[in-house]
Amino acid sequence: MSQIVIHDKTFIPLIKNEEIQKAVSKIALTINEQYKNETPIFVGVLSGVFMFFSDFLKNYPGKCEVSFLKLSSYDGTQSTGNVTTELDISTDITNRHVIILEDIVDTGNTLEKLYQLLKNKPVKSLKVASLFLKPDVFKKDFQIDYVGICIPNKFVVGYGLDYNGLGRNYTNLYQLKED
Ligand code: 5GP
Repeated sequence: MSQIVIHDKTFIPLIKNEEIQKAVSKIALTINEQYKNETPIFVGVLSGVFMFFSDFLKNYPGKCEVSFLKLSSYDGTQSTGNVTTELDISTDITNRHVIILEDIVDTGNTLEKLYQLLKNKPVKSLKVASLFLKPDVFKKDFQIDYVGICIPNKFVVGYGLDYNGLGRNYTNLYQLKED
């Protein structure tokens, strides 16, 4: 793994795809163990989740349905704290077990907004799985039920995550190289 350049910034390797795959598989099998007699709905938070979502489903052996929504809070490499909903859930989640899949949780603003959106919906249960978590930044008082890998408080790209539109296609995870 060598460093990459995207737009005006250089990124150095952080986590290899092999390690990411192990974490994805572990989350999928843990969730399946807990929902093996149910048909949960996995709700992917686009866009960054697409690679995690795909690998997650390939590792999930049970019955399930999928849905997506789109929220955004990032401008360049900074979280704006201003989260907007760009697409609503298309599936009827009434009386269903809903598990939100997130690529990464940073401040938790996005998830908080999502909880507000879903809190009045009559779901059977609501849980959250995030592949990556920045524990040094996340200070909210709600729980993230399944976490793949904790990472340092650095801006990362790859495995679905972008820097101003580029970098989503890298299968490894890279962190911003600081000067
Ligand atoms: P939060 O609302 O928790 O601060 O941020 C969550 C969203 O911001 C993620 O779904 C992701 O789209 C974006 N995000 C957070 N941290 C990073 C990062 O390090 N790199 C990239 N590319 N996006 C991030």
